[in-house]
Amino acid sequence: MTVNGTVNPKSVLHSGWIRKPIVFERAFGATLWDADGREYLDLVSSNMGPAMVGYCHPAVVAAIQRQVATLMGTRILFDNVPLVDFCNRIAACAPFDDARTYLCPGGGEANEAAIKLAMLITGRDGIVSLGGAYHGQSIATMSLCGMPGLRDRFSDGIRMRTFRQIVPGHAYRQWHDPSGMTWRDSLGALENDLQRSNSVAALIIEPIQAVGGHAVFEQEFLEEIQRVCGRFGVLLIADEVQTALGRCGALWASTLYGLKPDIITVGKGLGGGMPFGGVIARGGLITDAVQDAPWHLLTAQGHPVQAAAGSAVLDVVRSEGLVERSRRLGEAATSRFRRLAERHEVIGDVRCPGLFIGIDLVSDRETRQPATSACSAAWEFALGRGLIVGFGGVGGNVFKFKPPLTVSAPEFERMLDGTEEVIAYVDELVRSGRR
Ligand code: PMP
Repeated sequence: MTVNGTVNPKSVLHSGWIRKPIVFERAFGATLWDADGREYLDLVSSNMGPAMVGYCHPAVVAAIQRQVATLMGTRILFDNVPLVDFCNRIAACAPFDDARTYLCPGGGEANEAAIKLAMLITGRDGIVSLGGAYHGQSIATMSLCGMPGLRDRFSDGIRMRTFRQIVPGHAYRQWHDPSGMTWRDSLGALENDLQRSNSVAALIIEPIQAVGGHAVFEQEFLEEIQRVCGRFGVLLIADEVQTALGRCGALWASTLYGLKPDIITVGKGLGGGMPFGGVIARGGLITDAVQDAPWHLLTAQGHPVQAAAGSAVLDVVRSEGLVERSRRLGEAATSRFRRLAERHEVIGDVRCPGLFIGIDLVSDRETRQPATSACSAAWEFALGRGLIVGFGGVGGNVFKFKPPLTVSAPEFERMLDGTEEVIAYVDELVRSGRR
């Protein structure tokens, strides 16, 4: 297994984006150690969330260990105690009445299940998503994807016939539709079509577009989305896989923007590191016929270990006051990054809320041209300093600041200092005209 004393990953089939052959061995809180004992600080909570309460949180580890030794699964014809407990807890904090929750192993799977559920409930087969969206990697969820670079290497760019995409109303960076449509034109065209004949089951939206570049929407765009959905009985699915349960300084990011979803999907952070996906539906939608229909059957659905981990995460969020902490630390970080913008021309925009922060790095503030290649170089620069960072967006230029909500005060300071160093590095590259 080792070559020259280092673990050799040559037999691993990678599925994308392996930029450095680093093999990790253990982690705690916001810190990881690789197989050679080198230490790294994680500014993005694993893949933007699984480490939301920190790696190997003792309460989550204990809950998983207890459950592993008690019950690891049942036939899918039956429920299990941790599943019932978790779903009851979600019902107690969901932003709508009588919530019903379905658990599956990932966020993309949850979105796949959610759109099928919406189709079943409405008897329609159309789904609307947004340019810039990211909802998963299955054929159907890739078909919802609004990032051409992720889709176009497959024939016809993978697009389900009944799916349609509209122009998103991004507040900072206007989305470019090939035909030059604005979000108003695009939503207007959808509304006209719905008036003629309504075959749309649901519209799916991330309250803040995460992978797409931490894009915050214009408030009016969100209000119009909500109005059109209400007018035509189109179900609103909020993909809160990255944003739910504290990350944004609120339990649900949807409520921060006045969205009233019918279905919410969750994942990442709620698993405390375990694979996690969930569909949370407004109870009024779930008739007996829906409840009894075999609409999404998975061997690993409703898994008791996943559910036990989820309940432990909910307990930690509450007992450690993480919603409030996210808000407080998020405000401190955001204002520090905004002050930084006075010194570094490369900062085009700093977007929050809570500890869900994106720093848009541009080579020109006027044109808002993404500082793409400088950011690509900065990723390696950061890693060399023991910092795990991430850049998102179509231009790969939006620095993500999404640390564990449990991050310690010294770690938080080091993250802020590290972010400052990375931004100074990008600024220097852009200034010197090399990138
Ligand atoms: N939705 C959003 C908003 C996401 O960010 C992601 C993952 N990046 C997914 C869905 C897919 O989740 P998973 O990778 O767990 O399938």
